[in-house]
Amino acid sequence: MSLEAAIERLHAASRVAVLTGAGISAESGIPTFRDAQTGLWAQYNPEDLASPAAYATDAKLVWDWYAWRYELCANASPNAAHEKLAALERRTPEFLLVTQNVDGLHARAGSERMVELHGDIMQARCESCQTRFMLEAGFEIPPHCPICGTRARPNVVWFGEALPRRELERAQQAFQTCEVALVIGTSGVVEPAASLGRIAKNRGAFLIELNPLETPLSGFADASIRAGAVAGLGLLGL
Ligand code: NAD
Ligand code: ZN
Repeated sequence: MSLEAAIERLHAASRVAVLTGAGISAESGIPTFRDAQTGLWAQYNPEDLASPAAYATDAKLVWDWYAWRYELCANASPNAAHEKLAALERRTPEFLLVTQNVDGLHARAGSERMVELHGDIMQARCESCQTRFMLEAGFEIPPHCPICGTRARPNVVWFGEALPRRELERAQQAFQTCEVALVIGTSGVVEPAASLGRIAKNRGAFLIELNPLETPLSGFADASIRAGAVAGLGLLGL
């Protein structure tokens, strides 16, 4: 019943906002944070590497981890779920895709009206002049700014850091005004992205959640679909 309503609402909507988390890239072979880290990095918690304190203590260790994740993302391809969202964007007049992912797969699948709340793992940012630049495969560790030569850090938002304000406002605005909100593959525990679905629902939008596991948002959603991202978007007729 709620699935039928979700299909109907989604296909009729002219204002749609989507939030994605690590789960949408799981089927591209990129592990989520909740999945155990593999290989060399199994002994570390992401929380102990993706933080200003970790970087201050051992910048090389943090960069080695990012270089490993860079390779993972560079060698991955967008999956059908990324592509279905790019297609949904093309047919929806007002649309915004908000992602917590840093893997760049949405952009590679063709998404354009998009906010990357947590930055982009393919880029570094100068610690002095803040210039952002693309990293090339096999980049030196640590990389240095092409403009001023200062050490650069990963261009991502770390635990304990603020989200970029303009991007966050754009995301909140879209979730406040959409008719349908779709939340895919996020454990829904990291604020403030975790509250975007609630904002939409409180403003009268139809809230659809897509996740193989129950999350704090599940009981609140109008339709909560227990499936992987690719299969779940298929169930929604996308
Ligand atoms: P998370 O790891 O906390 O949660 C992932 C969620 O995806 C879980 O709820 C899980 O049930 C669900 N999931 C697993 N397989 C799925 C599938 N096939 N289809 C749909 N859902 C699936 O990730 P999060 O909520 O995004 O938040 C944690 C942080 O991790 C974010 O800040 C993000 O920046 C970072 N992160 C990003 C990437 C990436 O860029 N791909 C990868 C790992 C972590
Ligand atoms: Zn610089």
